[in-house]
Amino acid sequence: MTQEKQDSSRDHFLGMDQPITRRDFLNGIALGAAAAASAPLLAATPADPAATAGAALPAAAQDAFGYYPPLLTGLRGSHAGSFEDAHALRDGQSFPAATDTGEEYDLIVVGAGISGLAAAHFYRARNPKSRILILDNHDDFGGHAKRNEFNLGGHLNLLNGGTLLIDSPRPYGPIAAGLLTTLGIDVEKLAKKTQNLEFYEHLGLQSGVFFDQETFGADKLCVGLGQVPFKQLLADAPLSESARAQIIQIQEGKIDYLSGLSSDEKKDRLSRVSYDAFLRDLVHVEPAVRSFYKARTMGEWGVGTDAVSALDCWGIGLPGFEGMNLSPGSIRRMGFTPAGYADTGGSLRLHFPDGNATIARLLVRNLIPGAVPGSSAEDVVTARVNYALLDRSPAAVRLRLNSIAIRARHLGDPKSAGRVEVTYLRGGRAFSARAGGAVLACYNMMIPYLCPELPRAQQDALHQLVKTPLVYTSVALRNRQAFDALKVHQVYAPGGYHTYFHLNAHVDIGGYQSPKSAQQPILVHMVRTPCMPGLPEHEQNRAGRAELLSTSFETFERNIRDQLARTLKGGGFDPARDITAITVNRWPHGYAPEYNPLFDPDVPEPERPHVIGRAQFGRIAIANSDSGGGAYTDSAIDQGHRAVMELLRS
Ligand SMILES: Cc1cc2nc3c(=O)[nH]c(=O)nc-3n(C[C@H](O)[C@H](O)[C@H](O)COP(=O)(O)OP(=O)(O)OC[C@H]3O[C@@H](n4cnc5c(N)ncnc54)[C@H](O)[C@@H]3O)c2cc1C
Repeated sequence: MTQEKQDSSRDHFLGMDQPITRRDFLNGIALGAAAAASAPLLAATPADPAATAGAALPAAAQDAFGYYPPLLTGLRGSHAGSFEDAHALRDGQSFPAATDTGEEYDLIVVGAGISGLAAAHFYRARNPKSRILILDNHDDFGGHAKRNEFNLGGHLNLLNGGTLLIDSPRPYGPIAAGLLTTLGIDVEKLAKKTQNLEFYEHLGLQSGVFFDQETFGADKLCVGLGQVPFKQLLADAPLSESARAQIIQIQEGKIDYLSGLSSDEKKDRLSRVSYDAFLRDLVHVEPAVRSFYKARTMGEWGVGTDAVSALDCWGIGLPGFEGMNLSPGSIRRMGFTPAGYADTGGSLRLHFPDGNATIARLLVRNLIPGAVPGSSAEDVVTARVNYALLDRSPAAVRLRLNSIAIRARHLGDPKSAGRVEVTYLRGGRAFSARAGGAVLACYNMMIPYLCPELPRAQQDALHQLVKTPLVYTSVALRNRQAFDALKVHQVYAPGGYHTYFHLNAHVDIGGYQSPKSAQQPILVHMVRTPCMPGLPEHEQNRAGRAELLSTSFETFERNIRDQLARTLKGGGFDPARDITAITVNRWPHGYAPEYNPLFDPDVPEPERPHVIGRAQFGRIAIANSDSGGGAYTDSAIDQGHRAVMELLRS
């Protein structure tokens, strides 16, 4: 058989020719662009033309009847149409002259992620009569905190398209915790009432490891990770006897690999080597063992064990340190995440069915009355947002989607000016609006392009804030039967295209019910981190971003189908029959950068780029989790608050 024939028969087996939910229709086309082609679903006819204030503003997709981005499948996250203008701005391209919308606000917020929405909330809390415009380049609000919605067999099924849960290395401080309370989120109570963390375990399903042929020589799913001794787990794994013994030693042994040194000396030493180098040079393991562990850090940091220090891995509980007598607590040369967990044990945790999109939706409910029906943190989960109400005159707060800011400037000398003007692009046209101040809650590395007047040192610092790319994929399955047959509910796949996947978490909240029986359709959450092992972290991030933006949905789909088919083969899984929809949430600009002791200069906090970068500039303040140096929702909220307080105090 020719290669071409082999490929096409494999594609047929995988189901690449199966019609799955609207993949072929949208395939990641931006809503703004799709609107023209796909009426009536996205027709750009405002529900009420008179409601669109600012005479110069043309009809917008978000006002159209049926506009509902959470239901879109295909390539989401940084969807087509959301980022190209940003890249053009970076590349120095010119844009059409802006039309003045004539709008005057108290505040313009750039970025409708949690940080920008929280900033608007805090500003309104201090100035209840203030008027705010929020701009975002995506077709939906929430930033990373996005919602994937599926109608499976007549039932609503939800997954987070990005931000997974309320969880931070440190307990939420008074600002972030206070905001959750204001929004009606009692984390402890809701966690107890709505989450069933052991649902699958009670059904006898366990965690597994998938060894793939390309990395380990044969495909094999081993089930029982964390539940059975490693000797048993790895009995049939495609590993040599010695590799198996080394993994058992790392997991269950108590060896001091730096004996003779004090705890502090060991910590310092471990902060200067990667976990991969620790395994290679101190534990002296075989390459297959390093391959087994290499993806253990990818979910937390978006890079493999080659780019995370051994000490940071100790901080988040990776094995190998049991016999090293390391005293509890962090040292300065530790990253934000492990230092927080090592010192405090972390925050309370709560997963809504759509992740922290629920927080974004609650913020919008508070800011724009009527847009998100309901009154509690439970009923919001099934609420359908009325997007046509987000940007309506005479509302005090207006949220404008598909609108990318390309310029924020003072009207006069930044030292004394009382007003700023923000220019944004929407549907190929430029518009400008004015306000008494602006909070730039967007990706911080883009800010020098928006504000070229910023001091050089601040621009340099902002440019260093390179975010970590990652992909959260949501796959709808006809049922759960293959997982039940294999007795597995989550899989670590160190050599896989996605290095981890799991059945959707079981949460019943408000009117939302998670699927219970193995026969019901269900969602699977998969995580991919496109990194380039061997390079410094930020170089890996840049390479991963380029890879993400040049990977087609077809390639994602083929890899998803292939991975699920191979992993679940023994459970009777048929990819052509069992996969009914796919949403690939790609985040080329994902996690906020955090201090990495392997690559970043060991300087005190005030000298770190996120602190230098976030300095207030006249009537322009800077927010986003980037400016907190921590990729967490509490950081996004705290930074939104800080930025607002800077403007209000000056
Ligand atoms: C896949 C993923 C999973 C995560 N999981 C968790 C988790 O479980 N828990 C947790 O606490 N944190 C998690 N995070 C971190 C998450 O980034 C933060 O919790 C938080 O949501 C960040 O909010 P933000 O507003 O600071 O930034 P963002 O969410 O990035 O929002 C910024 C918004 O500004 C927009 N924007 C950028 N430039 C412009 C422009 N020029 N004009 C207009 N708009 C612009 C962006 O497109 C975006 O919509 C996760 C992140 C990712 C990517």
